[in-house]
Amino acid sequence: MKNPLIMTPGPTYVNEEVRRALSKEITNPDLDLDFYNFYRETCNKLKQLLNTKNDVLILSGEGILGLEAACASLIEPGDRVLVIDNGIFGNGFADFVKMYGGEVVVFRGDYERAIDVEELENFLKENHDFKLATLVHCETPSGITNPVDKICPILKKHGILTVVDAVSAIGGEPLEVDKWQIDMVIGGSQKVLSAPPGLTFLSISAAAWEKMLMRHTPITGYYCNLTIWKNWDEEKWFPYTQPISDIYGLRAAVDILLEDTEALARHRRIAEAVRKTLTDSGLELYPKGGFSNTVTTLMVPEAINFKDVYEGMLKEHGVLIAGAFGFLKDKVIRIGHMGENCYEEKLYITLKGLNQVLRNLGVDLKGELHKLFIENI
Ligand SMILES: *Cc1c(COP(=O)(O)O)cnc(C)c1O
Repeated sequence: MKNPLIMTPGPTYVNEEVRRALSKEITNPDLDLDFYNFYRETCNKLKQLLNTKNDVLILSGEGILGLEAACASLIEPGDRVLVIDNGIFGNGFADFVKMYGGEVVVFRGDYERAIDVEELENFLKENHDFKLATLVHCETPSGITNPVDKICPILKKHGILTVVDAVSAIGGEPLEVDKWQIDMVIGGSQKVLSAPPGLTFLSISAAAWEKMLMRHTPITGYYCNLTIWKNWDEEKWFPYTQPISDIYGLRAAVDILLEDTEALARHRRIAEAVRKTLTDSGLELYPKGGFSNTVTTLMVPEAINFKDVYEGMLKEHGVLIAGAFGFLKDKVIRIGHMGENCYEEKLYITLKGLNQVLRNLGVDLKGELHKLFIENI
């Protein structure tokens, strides 16, 4: 069977250059000093993407490993952690915090909008005794992007370390790690970067290193312990054998993204056109504000089932779209327009398919989605 056009918010289409890099002949990454250089260079390129001078590490594991490693390494039993929550991933941080003995305080925002900075600022006036705060840049299930640029400096003013899950945002949303004072930002290979799933990367500020190295209690676990990486470069020693082929693939993907100076503008332009197209046709978006540039989440129209939309798209049009999970299960349709999927022609095909599938299911649309898209782009 021909592979479907994967228009999900990760994993995304993997470019042929990346696939070629994945199949390159390998060396022994523990013994070949050239690989240490390659790893360092790749981290340096990620620093460029993140706009940071902080250390960057690439870890062997999906994005979730990065989130768990940040919590495992920073949190000591009894530490108070502010969990900024306006969605499924934001809320999910609370579980990791508890798992490592932290005391969770949730700042719950509106799940249909970006975090309200003023509300958070007022909350922090009374409550700011936290070691760190966790937040999500782009809430992928709901398609909402939070104003990390405003939130992190406010947290830092209160002496709170900032840990940001930017897995589905990096490369598709502006991100200035140093300027916005993010102590740890976490990314993944399979979202905007458009490499296969399997790698996570994170940046670590001097303040975050200090907190990890000056702990009173040892870090539980090994794989999630970031301090085992402290001297990898000086000592030319990796804590475990590196997934060299995955890193070759990631490097090719980072190179493609860094060369693409239009990437951020294209994500914004395509996201806006997709949203306008859907609302022009009478469909309803899930978010009421804070719209993401990498994923659009729309409500499943009344009287039809998500499963029918999903199957119609896949079987009749060869396009794979996503639903969501948790409280959004069966309620929303998600179209990913990130990285390799963020091109007009792919959205045209997707919207043309969706137009037909929704009409066949009896949804009354104003105008044809693909034609509206052309007008809006
Ligand atoms: C994709 C993603 C992750 C990684 O989780 P998986 O669902 O296992 O891929 C983490 N955080 C966010 C915001 C994501 O979009």
